[in-house]
Amino acid sequence: MGSADETLPTAGISHLLEHLALFGVGRPGDHANGLVDQTVTTFHTVGDPEQVTDFLAAVTRQLVQVPGHRLDAERGVIEAEQAGRSPGVSTSLHAWRFGAHSFGLAAQPQYGITRLGLEVIEAWAHRFATRDNAVLWLSGPPPAGLRLLLPEGGFQPPPDPRWSAMPDFPCWYPGLPGGVASLSVLPRAWAATALAHVLRSRLVDELRTLRAVAYSPDTDYQPLTGEFGRLIGFSDLVAERAVEGTEAFRTVLEQLAHAAPGEGGITEADLDEWRAALAQRHADAMMPLALAAHGAWETLFRRPVEDLAERQLQQARVTPEDVRELARTALDSALLAVPPDAQAPPTPWRRAPDSAGEPVPGRGRPHLDPGHPDARLVVIPQGLTLRLDGTAHLTARTASTAAVLRWPDGRRVVVAEDATHITVEPTLWRHGRAAVQTIDEYWPEELRIEMPARAPQEVPQPVWSWRLRRWWRVLSREWVLVWAAGVAGLAVVELSSGTPLTGARWAAMAGLLTVIGVTRSDMIRLRRI
Ligand SMILES: [Zn+2]
Repeated sequence: MGSADETLPTAGISHLLEHLALFGVGRPGDHANGLVDQTVTTFHTVGDPEQVTDFLAAVTRQLVQVPGHRLDAERGVIEAEQAGRSPGVSTSLHAWRFGAHSFGLAAQPQYGITRLGLEVIEAWAHRFATRDNAVLWLSGPPPAGLRLLLPEGGFQPPPDPRWSAMPDFPCWYPGLPGGVASLSVLPRAWAATALAHVLRSRLVDELRTLRAVAYSPDTDYQPLTGEFGRLIGFSDLVAERAVEGTEAFRTVLEQLAHAAPGEGGITEADLDEWRAALAQRHADAMMPLALAAHGAWETLFRRPVEDLAERQLQQARVTPEDVRELARTALDSALLAVPPDAQAPPTPWRRAPDSAGEPVPGRGRPHLDPGHPDARLVVIPQGLTLRLDGTAHLTARTASTAAVLRWPDGRRVVVAEDATHITVEPTLWRHGRAAVQTIDEYWPEELRIEMPARAPQEVPQPVWSWRLRRWWRVLSREWVLVWAAGVAGLAVVELSSGTPLTGARWAAMAGLLTVIGVTRSDMIRLRRI
């Protein structure tokens, strides 16, 4: 059970359950704790056999009989915990690669924390906290009296990390200033950890030592499921040298995939260095515990557990060609975050679209601010599209929407599966309330996330100058001038001819002119398009 199993409206539910299961079980942080990652939730403790037995019994009991009286208190605790975290490059890469969906939820706010009720949490526990979905490991023999109070229940497979909101790879997007980073999804193999090691060495040699354009390039490889893992490479960049640093970073990725040994490609010496680093780690006193924890992880994902000898045998068999092949896979599936001041990478790199959905058809409503004359908001039952100028668009299709954030004052933020966020402020669009009504009517109810009320001064209002300029635009339209001139002309004709001015005749003539004017205005508008 982890964040990748959740949805945007339920994001954080595993975290909430983890806190509730640990409530009252020793002092938090002393010798026991819990951890939720993308696919696994871990409870761990250190103690004598009796303490361990008590801990496991208490945690598994509270996973099944969730201490609901503690729910509101833990909401606050988690909010405090979240407030201390700042989003990094990994957050941005996850949002672009996976959207607001499965593995991308690690990069989104945990909206479920403040709002999910006990029943939903209990149903979540019922689905995941079961015998076939859990593995226990111990550093010693099972103590007498060990009991796990988990019910029967099936294995819950994790989502497929190959899913992406991006249509094509390799692709890039403008990331944060001062750094460059890449993320790839790879099949799991020893060659993947070798690749992570070699990539780090190459980035340090090239960016820090040779060119001095960076301080601390690094890599991070993590298995996500039984079959796939993800590799992140990243580096800070010396200010003013982002262009050179970004190009060097990309060249290292490309050379590992395509260059011959000696020209930047992977060599036997690279792998010897990797094996030496592994041997050093194997000598660590904590290694047997790490192996046991890893074995539990593999068991959970239905993979064979390898002992140390077997692992070393597998590591010895890795060849430079294996790593090169994986480096090609990594390059072909790479998402690159480029600092805004760097150049766009050449083909085959493509610019990742800001919004992956096809725009919905329709002319749309204009923005009330005349400063955005081309902005249009199209809201139809199938989805909504926001255009800020003639070309770029943000789209959320109803069928692929991750969540709709709803404020009491009518503001809506529609979050598409690719993590595109579209804000609709009803006060800023012509007939904005009607747009909000369409959203409320056609977007599924289970996607709703109710947000706390805003202070009245936070609700944006069209300013007076906008209104005046809008009136001037209406008044200066051709048909209004034609209409006014027509009425004035008729009045002159009638007055000079001495015919009495009856109300009925005035109304008929004004009506006729209005019809002509409105038809004309439609024609004018159509011609402009
Ligand atoms: Zn926590």
